[in-house]
Amino acid sequence: MDLLPLLKSQFGFSGFRSGQREAIESVLSGKDTLAILPTGAGKSLIYQFPASLQKDKLTLVISPLIALMKDQTESLLAKGIPAAFCNSTLDELEQMKILSDAVKGNLKVLLVSPERALSPGFFKIFKEMNLFALVVDEAHCVSQWGHDFRPEYRQIHLLRERHPRPQFPVLALTATATMKVRIDVQAALGMRSPNVILSTFFRPNLKFSVEYPSTERDKADRLLELLEPWKENRKFAGRTIVYCATRKKTDEVFELLKDFGFSVGKYHAGRTDGIRERTQNAYSTGKVPVLVATNAFGMGMDQPDVRLVIHYQVPSSLEAYYQEAGRAGRDNEPASCVLFYKNADVATQAFMLSKETNFKGGDTLLKHIKEYANKEECRQVQLCAYFGEEIKSCGTCDICLQSGSSADREKFIRTEEAKLRKKEEKRNYDFDESEESSILQFLSQFPATFGKNLIAKTLAGKLTKDVLRYRLERNPFHGQLKQIPEEAIVAKLEFWVENKKVLVSGNKYPKLYLSGSSPVKRKLGSDSSEGQTKVKKPPTLNSQILRELMNYRDRKSRQLKWKKFMVFQNPVLKRIAERKPSTLGELEATKGVGPAKVERFGNEILEILQKFQ
Ligand code: ADP
Ligand code: MG
Ligand code: ZN
Repeated sequence: MDLLPLLKSQFGFSGFRSGQREAIESVLSGKDTLAILPTGAGKSLIYQFPASLQKDKLTLVISPLIALMKDQTESLLAKGIPAAFCNSTLDELEQMKILSDAVKGNLKVLLVSPERALSPGFFKIFKEMNLFALVVDEAHCVSQWGHDFRPEYRQIHLLRERHPRPQFPVLALTATATMKVRIDVQAALGMRSPNVILSTFFRPNLKFSVEYPSTERDKADRLLELLEPWKENRKFAGRTIVYCATRKKTDEVFELLKDFGFSVGKYHAGRTDGIRERTQNAYSTGKVPVLVATNAFGMGMDQPDVRLVIHYQVPSSLEAYYQEAGRAGRDNEPASCVLFYKNADVATQAFMLSKETNFKGGDTLLKHIKEYANKEECRQVQLCAYFGEEIKSCGTCDICLQSGSSADREKFIRTEEAKLRKKEEKRNYDFDESEESSILQFLSQFPATFGKNLIAKTLAGKLTKDVLRYRLERNPFHGQLKQIPEEAIVAKLEFWVENKKVLVSGNKYPKLYLSGSSPVKRKLGSDSSEGQTKVKKPPTLNSQILRELMNYRDRKSRQLKWKKFMVFQNPVLKRIAERKPSTLGELEATKGVGPAKVERFGNEILEILQKFQ
């Protein structure tokens, strides 16, 4: 039979995509069929096309995607194919009416949720149905090795086994092709020597890469960098999806992006259907081109022009990663997929997986993500190998574009940078008055005796070699500020030195004393440059402004319970201090300050700046 004219007239497509024809012919010949095609490859057509050819037979589709059933039904109806769906969003009466339509032969396609299909009442009606085929969409849900296990799926085989006329074929559709999942699907659905149709997982237009941010702040910085093309007033650059593992993180990243002036939506299971629908609409019309989402978003909601998919946290498995990242570049134009890999996020996933009922495979699933992130092998070679396919290097991923050694170097630099940032974060502590006075008292009791590091270690209660050498562990000040990071005390001392509140004596071994007191050095050490005062340049105007702005930022972050960098990042404050804007407009023109920030903080910042004019 020539299928092409029908494809054109009924579905409006000019040709079959890879795997579609083969799978459709297999179903039409009555064979059990397992079609494994990547997300977006067009698996729905594989049941819709044969179903549309039937005169009085029903195609029953089990799908876990309640959110999509309505859309799919409407799209079938639009093509003149009588279809309906049946799930918990309808009331009892509506459900009964639809099921009776199905039995009467008024429908060609009926979509049901697995809960509905396996509920006690359903089977009685199911026995009466004149079936052409039983379709199991997202069939990997039967498998504990998949990323989306649904216990109900394991009962599906009973439907055919108990049907009085069990001659109809089972068609299983999935984008997950690992051997384990494949074997599970066939066995659990009771498939009889099925035709397996498998198409390539290689995506030539996608550029995969992994980044290794070591702090949350690092991630936020990088995210903002990557999203630069989506910033307000830029011309439409296609869509982007930022995937998070938890709702909490989704909320956090959403707020961050909103504050930085992005048109951004968020999507997770904790929101009401209405809000989710609105978000989806805003996203698909392009009004909101950036979406922050958990894995609740995605299945089937493909937009052709997703240019960037960022995984802000690792997903629960490599399949999940491939599916979610694979939503990029559906239009075959270049697109990027960036995975932020951080050990703490792997731990979060492990924890969430362990909480899921009787599920012990979590570590194994995550092992593959770890390997993917840590192996120096073409990303797409790795992904395809995971799905049982061998390909040549992609030539565009982060591994392909660098030699092994430069990759190592990059990694090294990255960790070093991350360490520095971490240190910077520790230095960012807000002292209260009594904490400050502990330091000052120490200085007044031991003028020009110790350097900043030893002072900090002593107050922070460290027991390092040099602390012990000077017997500072017996000093009453030892551990008086043990709640404060050592780095923060050092930073404070440096700040005071810069302000000349504290002076320095000695060059080779600089010792600190309070300004206004005399540098009478105690009998310690044998520094020849004793008594010599280092001349420090006075603090500049900009650094004073910056300090004020930082204080203000820190205060706000405490009030709002936000992370400091979410209020303002240091580089942004620095720019403000340099430019000294005098109007809200000028403030908004500063890089890193969006309209949302101006609205919230603008007037107060201008007030601070006025003090210095
Ligand atoms: P999957 O279930 O494999 O993720 P879908 O069935 O949802 O994919 O189809 C993805 C998109 O591809 C849909 O917009 C669909 O209309 C389109 N599509 C499917 N088959 C074809 C084809 N032969 N030619 C053009 N577009 C197609
Ligand atoms: Mg699908
Ligand atoms: Zn590659």
